[in-house]
Amino acid sequence: MPSIVQKLSGRRAIGGLRMPVQCSLKTAVVREGPAQSSGAGAAWIAYLCPVHAADLDGWPGVTDHPETGPMSCGTVLDYRSPEEQLQSHADLWLTRLTGVDPAAYDGVWAEVLDQADRVLLTRFEEAGTTGEDSPLQNMLAPMDMARQYAAEGDLGMAATSLGYCETFARNL
Ligand SMILES: [Zn+2]
Repeated sequence: MPSIVQKLSGRRAIGGLRMPVQCSLKTAVVREGPAQSSGAGAAWIAYLCPVHAADLDGWPGVTDHPETGPMSCGTVLDYRSPEEQLQSHADLWLTRLTGVDPAAYDGVWAEVLDQADRVLLTRFEEAGTTGEDSPLQNMLAPMDMARQYAAEGDLGMAATSLGYCETFARNL
């Protein structure tokens, strides 16, 4: 019998892996995201423990399916296009953090991420280093990578790099 994840994913290729929360608890449910705009199936699938199933901002699903398995909480399999994944990052945290709105850049992600990278760097420099582990500092390298990939036209890798930033953004 196919698992619920196999059923939800069908034979689609995973567009991106994200970890919006870092949590070591075991998965209790698999959350089925809203239908993809193309109608091909769920836009994303999230593995969640009972705590985060009840409390995870920004990831409203259609249904939670009971699931027991070795996966730990927090992993999201994203089946959307690179552009849709980038937009989702903007909606969930990037625009709030940097003030950079993709709508103002006509959907040119190279420019959006170039600007976001500048803002983040400025914010980090202004905050100064305290010698402590800083989420903002941890975001600088993956944000710079996202900027470079977008400049080279590789929006898939740009979205993947933003996924690393997203994990840190949650701790800001
Ligand atoms: Zn959890």
